[in-house]
Amino acid sequence: MNNPTIGILGGGQLARMMALSGYPLGFEFVFFDPSESACAGHVGELMVADYHNELALEEFCKKVDIVTLDFENVPVDALRFVEKKKPVFPSPDVLEIAQDRYNEKTFCLAHGIPTTDFEVINSRSELVFAAKKFDYDAILKTRKMGYDGKGQYRINGADSVAQVPDDIFEVPLILERRIAFEREVSVMVVRSQNGEIKTWPLCENKHKNGILTTTIVPAKHGDLDDTTRDHAIKLAESLNYVGVLVVEFFQTADAVMVNEMAPRVHNSGHWSIEGAQTSQFENHLRAGLALPLGDTGMIRKDSMAAMLNWIGAFPEHVLAINEEQLYWHLYGKAPREGRKIGHSTLLADSPQELHDRIVSLVKKLGVQL
Ligand code: ATP
Ligand code: MG
Repeated sequence: MNNPTIGILGGGQLARMMALSGYPLGFEFVFFDPSESACAGHVGELMVADYHNELALEEFCKKVDIVTLDFENVPVDALRFVEKKKPVFPSPDVLEIAQDRYNEKTFCLAHGIPTTDFEVINSRSELVFAAKKFDYDAILKTRKMGYDGKGQYRINGADSVAQVPDDIFEVPLILERRIAFEREVSVMVVRSQNGEIKTWPLCENKHKNGILTTTIVPAKHGDLDDTTRDHAIKLAESLNYVGVLVVEFFQTADAVMVNEMAPRVHNSGHWSIEGAQTSQFENHLRAGLALPLGDTGMIRKDSMAAMLNWIGAFPEHVLAINEEQLYWHLYGKAPREGRKIGHSTLLADSPQELHDRIVSLVKKLGVQL
């Protein structure tokens, strides 16, 4: 397929960065999003319509050669409708699993991949018993539609069960045992239409209030890191996955377990734009188009990358800070509390240099991560 036009369901920053990586390869893009302010619209044609609007989806399909997504909660029915007209990656079957934490965890367990202990919760009474089973140290999550820690409720002691508001029980839930992890890591794996598979170096992620704040790559290598890679590859193969899949893990002293997976490019992979030989965005597109995958190694031997998320507001005068190997990404989104509106990537040649560069940048900006 020469100069393909790629349709992206969801027009957020992931779609925007996907397009920015695809233009140099001669690809064209059309975005589909219910919001007219979707920030990918600044870099390509944006169709504004609800995901259930079949006439709009039909028109979208006429404009594009192949379809992918930047948002895993696109209704599966809409994806199945689109799939009848144009190839879709990843497939609606994968989305059906990844959209629901219960399906996702059951899939992991069925393939011998450990995940956090959980119970399905449909009522307060079920919560009472499950919370007790997990020693009142757990996290109540909506099965569907969660992101950036939204739809989560911390159970911390017997009293907190009674304080869970009634309306939480209006949607299906799961309760997960809280894991006292040593660190959180993610594995980015890309698998192409023809089965070629690659992973990027391991990413270590820090969260604040359930939102990703920083990613450091490559994470310090521990005994369990090859296991995380094996698990991610096994998941991608068992799902017959096409594109980038990101698997988030909790690591304790002697175990790793899957937290969740993202059937798309992911915030913990943004460093790869400048930090890797080939970014997650470019390889996602290559995978869908059955093109050979690009090298997923670091940009230089022994180099390291840090990705810092800008959440809520962008520090003032940032663009006036111009340093070697510091890259700014503003998404063109209106600032709002808790909203990811940009990120920066820093590169360095040793863990100490990377650490010093982060500390110095944060000080210059007068922000806290
Ligand atoms: P995102 O879309 O940003 O990945 P999400 O809303 O899908 O987030 P999770 O990944 O399930 O949510 O949780 C967000 C963060 O909350 C995790 O990265 C972790 O820091 C913390 N967390 C979630 N579940 C657990 C758990 N069972 N034990 C300990 N910490 C947890
Ligand atoms: Mg997560």
